[in-house]
Amino acid sequence: MPVERSRLYRVKAVAESLDVSVATIYRAVESGALRAVRLGTGKGAVRVPGEAITAYITACQRAAAKTPRAQSEPSEAVTCVICGADLGTSPAGRYVVGRAQDGSHLFACKTHQVRSPTSKIGGAA
Ligand SMILES: [Zn+2]
Repeated sequence: MPVERSRLYRVKAVAESLDVSVATIYRAVESGALRAVRLGTGKGAVRVPGEAITAYITACQRAAAKTPRAQSEPSEAVTCVICGADLGTSPAGRYVVGRAQDGSHLFACKTHQVRSPTSKIGGAA
């Protein structure tokens, strides 16, 4: 349905227009994700302003866009964090040894995949 921003909609009408259950709309209202007004006293009647509906849809679209997809390995070339060797763009031959502060993986070459205190880092190969 075309949403009129200045109109108030019943929860049932909102649920039908968004093709979700009434419970989903009530939950959205309870959580504050969907702005609604209560008319009358006591439990009252919940009505959702048209502009709140459009704002809610926009927020949902943003949330969907932000949902992280399955973590895939980066396709750009990476280097070994120990020796700086170019590990290329293939997942083969690179080993995840940790995570950078931004959450991206840190890689090492086969030689440096295990960081052991006893191993000689930077020693003669
Ligand atoms: Zn290395």
